Amino acid sequence: MRAAVMWESGGPFDVREVSLATPGPREVVVRLHSVGVCASDLSLTTVFGQPTPVVLGHEGAGVVAEVGREVRNVRPGDRVLVLWVAPCGTCRPCLRGDEYLCANRSSTADARAGREHTSTQRLSIDGQAVHQGMKTATFAERTLLPDHAVIKIADDLPFEIAALFGCATATGAGAALRSAAVRPGDRVAVIGCGAIGLNALLGAIVAGASDLVAVDPMASRRDFALSLGATAAATPEEFADGRRDLDVVIDAVGAPATVLTAWRAVRRGGTVTVVGAGAPGAVVEIPAYEMFHDDKRITGSFHGGISLRRDLPLLTDLWRTGRLPVEKLLSDPVELADINRVVADQRSGAVVRTPIHIE
Ligand SMILES: [Zn+2]
Ligand SMILES: [Zn+2]
Repeated sequence: MRAAVMWESGGPFDVREVSLATPGPREVVVRLHSVGVCASDLSLTTVFGQPTPVVLGHEGAGVVAEVGREVRNVRPGDRVLVLWVAPCGTCRPCLRGDEYLCANRSSTADARAGREHTSTQRLSIDGQAVHQGMKTATFAERTLLPDHAVIKIADDLPFEIAALFGCATATGAGAALRSAAVRPGDRVAVIGCGAIGLNALLGAIVAGASDLVAVDPMASRRDFALSLGATAAATPEEFADGRRDLDVVIDAVGAPATVLTAWRAVRRGGTVTVVGAGAPGAVVEIPAYEMFHDDKRITGSFHGGISLRRDLPLLTDLWRTGRLPVEKLLSDPVELADINRVVADQRSGAVVRTPIHIE
């Protein structure tokens, strides 16, 4: 099968033939139909320690092609979404409903610590092992996953919308709906208007935000945010300078400077939610007196606080009824061979998300 291989950290993708193993007893093969490139796919090798060669990709949806003999949750032909947080279903976080925090999920942090984190025998080229990025490796015609890493999707949910639900929408809209728990009438700002920030904006609209400020250095992204329903837009400098007194600020960048800006922009008792993936070692200094005196909340937001087995029906219903119009974030689909152009276009801000359709 064909897959987009990254040979060196941060390097371009090389679309070429890759061998995929046959599924074990509790594994499934998914024939991918639509996949998206997320910013964290790109930082995975450069910032978060993902070894190469690797097939990246963690937004993806398709059809089950093969299942191992003990697989019970899906059958060949089922339309499914790939989960990059595959919940074990038995650990304490899973049992209390916080599947997105599954304690048995392995990650790139394991690779940094010298522990195996990607199954090295699943993908190979001429006998050389190739890593599966995020264990999902969706930049490919097919991917091999544990059975709990797929979830069935509604018949009317297009693959490209499902793929977006797999990361950008779960993470972004979830940051507003679950982690920050935006309430009706809240005055909200979103820092960073890439795919995550714009999904956070849409989530804040669903939650009933009144004032909604979009913050981004790129004019094209600010304008797009306004077209989606932001009520004001600002550059990072303009936003940092103003007195804001906001109820909620969602930081989709996650750099120390943006977290501090968010901290200063919320009112006493307000909430800062950090959904941007901060670099390991980056430190935010918040005055201890302000933490006490201003009674502000600062929350992380991993996977938007979304457990997809619980929340996929909610996201699907919101999309189906037009309340969460995430299709507006998608540009015209392209083929896997065009993946390097997708990366360049998304980085430049020319597009938010270009779905890659795999025939
Ligand atoms: Zn992602
Ligand atoms: Zn678990």
